[in-house]
Amino acid sequence: MGKRPNEFEQMAITVPEVRRFVNQCGGCGSVGVKPDAPDEFTRFAPLGPGLRERIGVLALDDRGLCEMCGRWLDDRTAHRPA
Ligand SMILES: [Zn+2]
Repeated sequence: MGKRPNEFEQMAITVPEVRRFVNQCGGCGSVGVKPDAPDEFTRFAPLGPGLRERIGVLALDDRGLCEMCGRWLDDRTAHRPA
């Protein structure tokens, strides 16, 4: 599973001013704008406006996983023999 970060995702996680408003899943490496990122942050981002539209929004759970990976892990954990 997992996907290669595209050009914008790669920039989003390497440019510090942008990185702080970006989530990356610890499981699959998916990248997305934090759901609570202020609307105005892309105005100051070197990537210009529309970053949210380009890479989407990614919420992470308290394990640092996206919804898909969190569900996958829950599944594995639930079915693991005791
Ligand atoms: Zn993930």
